[in-house]
Amino acid sequence: MPMYRQPPYDDQNIFAKLLRGEIPSDTVYADERVLAFRDINPQAPVHVLVIPKGRYVSFTDFSADASAEEIVGFWQAVAAVTRQLGLESSGYRLITNMGPDSAQSVPHFHVHILAGLAFSHVMVIPK
Ligand code: 5GP
Repeated sequence: MPMYRQPPYDDQNIFAKLLRGEIPSDTVYADERVLAFRDINPQAPVHVLVIPKGRYVSFTDFSADASAEEIVGFWQAVAAVTRQLGLESSGYRLITNMGPDSAQSVPHFHVHILAGLAFSHVMVIPK
C-alpha cells in the first residue's frame, strides 16, 4: 500500500474561515492559541470541537510540527473545556480523525468532545 501523504494546509477550509471570523461559531472557549465551539451537527447532547489556531491539517502534523507550548496549551484547553462544561463527573469521549480511513471531513486538526449520554463500548462503526 502506498504511504498516505496528507494534503498541505488549505486556508479555505471551514475552520480556517471560522477562525478568521468569516463564518459564525458558537464559541465555548477561546485563548491565545485555541478555540472551542459547538459542532453544527451534534452527535451527542454535548458535542464541542477544540482546534488550535495554528495551521495544522491533523494530529499528525500537529504532533510533529507544533511547538511544545502549542501542544501543551492545546491539551490544557481541552481539559479546561471539559471542566467548564461540567463533564468531569459524568465523563466524556475524545475523538480525533486523521487520514483516509477516519472519515475526517475538515482538514484542520480538531478534537471532538462528546458527552451527555452513556456511550456504547463499541467505539468503531464501519462505513
Ligand atoms: P471530522 O469528520 O472532520 O472529524 O469532523 C468535522 C466536524 O465539523 C463534523 O462533526 C461537522 O459537523 C463539523 N462542522 C462542519 N462544518 C461546520 C461548521 O461550519 N461549523 C461548526 N460548528 N461545525 C462544523
